[in-house]
Amino acid sequence: MKDLRIGLIGCGAIGEKHALRIQNNLQNCHLAAVSDAKQENAARVASVCNTPVIESSAALIASPDIDAIVVTAWDPAHKDLVLDCIAHGKYVFCEKPLATTASACREIINAEVSHGKRLVQVGFMRRFDRGYRLLKQSIEQGVIGNPLMVHCAHRSPSIAPGFSDDYMISQVCIHEIDLIQWLVGDTYESVYLEVPRQSCHAEPALHDPQIAHIRTKTGICIDVELFVNCRFGYDIQCQIVGENGAIRLPDPTYYTIRQNGFRGMPLCTNWEERFADAYHVEMQAWVDSTLAGTTTGSNSWDGYVAAVTADALNESRRTEHRISIDLPPKPSLYP
Ligand code: NAP
Repeated sequence: MKDLRIGLIGCGAIGEKHALRIQNNLQNCHLAAVSDAKQENAARVASVCNTPVIESSAALIASPDIDAIVVTAWDPAHKDLVLDCIAHGKYVFCEKPLATTASACREIINAEVSHGKRLVQVGFMRRFDRGYRLLKQSIEQGVIGNPLMVHCAHRSPSIAPGFSDDYMISQVCIHEIDLIQWLVGDTYESVYLEVPRQSCHAEPALHDPQIAHIRTKTGICIDVELFVNCRFGYDIQCQIVGENGAIRLPDPTYYTIRQNGFRGMPLCTNWEERFADAYHVEMQAWVDSTLAGTTTGSNSWDGYVAAVTADALNESRRTEHRISIDLPPKPSLYP
């Protein structure tokens, strides 16, 4: 089989991880070139991955020696880069979020619909996590009957200075927003954002923790605890309660220690470690589907729905009202 020649744009933190993943862990592909607005970042990743730099992202996308693109630039650059890939008819894996606003996501959908073929995968890697896949399989097999409630927690030990309330939704909660409708096979009807008593560890301008409440069209009630200064670990929880039972996301596999009258298990402390396997599976699935001329995972419509839902949650925090999720009809391009 011919190797997929991948060009990667955005050589920052996750860009470097994905570049190394492509070079060292994935099958049937290689990193053919990298690009970054900051040349020193591009040079560093090019050196560790032994691959050339192409100075401009436009030249990388247009290159006849590049088959498909990975976008890991910062969020505001996503829209133009993805549009450029579609204009060149090239498959693109874009890290989440698809774009920073719902209207920018609509532009991408319009371009893809005009092109007449799906080319975009959005980097919501949890759909490829083994634990979440087991939950989805159990729901589809009817193990717990119809889902009624979903309880989630998204906790991290601490967060960089300047992290904002809106980021709490558009950067953190966005993973649960994409994931849960896929898990339960339903669409969202409305949202409400609740702000509990605040942690002393949060910066004064940040509301931490927050609780996102989401109701689906069939009436499933979802709550997501968002707590980015929890101090004790990177702790991701999900429990789905159905008519005939409840299922819970398995903890990552770790040893259990018994010592000094205590029995316990270590916790992950960061997202890279927690979802390392999911990132591998996600990107290999992208490579395989691209070589087969199809797409997999979250598509542009999913990226748009996530952006609309995130906007509604942020509006709910500002207005203290429940906000409806009103979506236009889904184009037939999206299954
Ligand atoms: P980062 O460390 O800031 O890296 C972003 C890189 O892209 C920087 O080198 C930046 O250069 C460069 N860049 C900015 N605009 C560009 C453009 N127009 N063309 C080319 N390069 C450009 O950010 P990161 O943490 O790696 O995050 C990158 C993306 O991945 C973000 O969209 C983020 O939301 C997403 N992400 C997803 C996950 C996940 O769990 N799926 C996890 C982490 C990050 P400058 O430094 O000069 O701006």
